[in-house]
Amino acid sequence: MAITFSDKKVLILGAGVTGLAVARSLAKRGAQVSLADDVVTEVADFTVAITSSYKAANFDALVISPGWKSDHQLISEAEKSSVQLWNEVDLAWKLRAELVPNQRWIALTGTNGKTTTVEMAAAMLRQGGVSAIACGNVGTTVIESVESPEKYEVLVLELSSFQLHWIREATFVAAAILNIAEDHLDWHGGFNQYADAKMAILDRASTGIFNGDDPEVVSRSTHWQGRKVFFSLDTPGPGEIGVVEELLVDRAFVSNPQEAAMIAEVVDVIPTVPHNVANALAAAGLARAIGISHESIRLALQNFKLGRHRIEVIFSKNEINWINDSKATNPHAAAASLMSTLSAIWIAGGLAKGAEMGELIKRCKSRIKVAILIGSDRELIAAELRETAPEVEIVYVDAPSSYVKGGADNSLMEAVVDAAKSRAVAGDTILLAPACASMDQFLSYADRGDRFTQAALKENA
Ligand code: ADP
Repeated sequence: MAITFSDKKVLILGAGVTGLAVARSLAKRGAQVSLADDVVTEVADFTVAITSSYKAANFDALVISPGWKSDHQLISEAEKSSVQLWNEVDLAWKLRAELVPNQRWIALTGTNGKTTTVEMAAAMLRQGGVSAIACGNVGTTVIESVESPEKYEVLVLELSSFQLHWIREATFVAAAILNIAEDHLDWHGGFNQYADAKMAILDRASTGIFNGDDPEVVSRSTHWQGRKVFFSLDTPGPGEIGVVEELLVDRAFVSNPQEAAMIAEVVDVIPTVPHNVANALAAAGLARAIGISHESIRLALQNFKLGRHRIEVIFSKNEINWINDSKATNPHAAAASLMSTLSAIWIAGGLAKGAEMGELIKRCKSRIKVAILIGSDRELIAAELRETAPEVEIVYVDAPSSYVKGGADNSLMEAVVDAAKSRAVAGDTILLAPACASMDQFLSYADRGDRFTQAALKENA
C-alpha cells in the first residue's frame, strides 16, 4: 500500500456510517484510530468515547463527519493548533490516486432532489456501459466506493452542504447544482453561509450544470469562470438543456448548439411532475459530460424508479390519492410536492430547522384544502396559513398519551389518517409532505413515512 498512515494518531469525530468507513480505511493503513461521539455506541473493532474525553492536541489529525458543527470544541481546538482537519471525501480522493487513478468523479448538490438525481445519473452511466455508483450522502460512502474491488470508472457523488463546507482537494469532471432554498440554517448560521457552502462545489469543477429556473442558483453562479450549462423546464437556448413541447432536448452537449437533439420524451420521466423532470435534466447533463448517448439516457429514465418516501403513491381509492412524501423535510421540497397536486389534504409539521414557511404557503395556498398539523414547529405553519390563506381548514393532531417515539403504538399516524380521511372527497390528494424534519416524533423520515403508510393501509383495509 503506497498510502499509509502508520505513524498517525487520528481522531474521528462521529461514529456514524461515514466515521466508521473512514476508521476502517485508516486503521487498515496503519493509523491509530480513535472515535468520538456524543453518545457512546457499541461498535465492532473500535472503541468510541464521548467527545469531551478527548483533547484534539493529542492527535495528528481530526476527521470531521458530516453534520458536526464547525464551532465544535474539538474542531476549534484543532484549528488553533497544528492538528490537521481531514474529511472523508478528500481522504477518498487521496486513495483514488493510488487505487483507481483513472476513475472520474462527478458531483451534485442542492437543497432537494440530490439522492434521486445521483441515482438517475448513475443509472444513465450504467445504461451507457460505464461502471458507476452513486455514493456520498447516499448509501455507500465515497471511501468505500473508491476502495471497492469493482474499481468503478465513475463515481457520482451526492454532497451535502455539510460535506462541501470542508472539502479542499477532490475535483470533479462536472458538478451540478439542483436548487438552493432554506434548509439547515440552524447549522450554517444563515442562508448566505448555507448557499456559499453549496456553491463551493464549483471550486472543484470545470463544468457546472445549473438550474436555470432557480434564481438563487443563477445569480450566485454569475461570476463563476468555468463552463456553464443551464438546464430549465423552458425552451433551451444554445448551450442549454431544456424542454420543447413534449421533449427533453440537449443544446449543450451537441456538435452544433444551433440544433437541438432529443434526449427523451417528458413522459419517460416517471412520475411526470415538474421537479422530477428538472432532476432528470440535471442527471442528463452530468451523464452527457461523461459522454453517455441520448438513447442510453432515455432508456435509463424509462426504467428508473424513485426511492421510497419520495412522492410515493401508496394507493388510490374512491378517486383519492394517498401519497407519502415523508422525505419532504424542508419547505422547498414540500412546495414541489404540493404543486404536483390540485387539492391537497396536507399533512405537515415537525422540526423546521430554522426555515420559514411564508414562501411555501404563499406559493401553494391554492393547492391546500386542509392542513393537518403535527409536531414541535407546527405553529410556524399554522401562523402563515392564518395570515395568508385563512380559507384553509387547520386541524391540529396531538400525539395520544400512549404514543412513544419508535414504539409499537402507531396511534399518532392513525389519528392523522383518520382526520385526513374524514375530510377527503373524490379528486383530493392526501399528502404527507411535512416541510420539516421528523425527529421530534419519529425515528427518521423513513419511520414517519412507514407509519403513515401503515395507518393509511389499515384505515382503508
Ligand atoms: P435529497 O437527497 O436532496 O434530500 P431526495 O431525492 O431524497 O433529495 O428528495 C427529497 C425531497 O425533495 C422529496 O420529498 C422530493 O419529493 C423533493 N424533491 C425532489 N426533487 C426536487 C426538486 N428538484 N425540487 C424540489 N423538491 C424536490
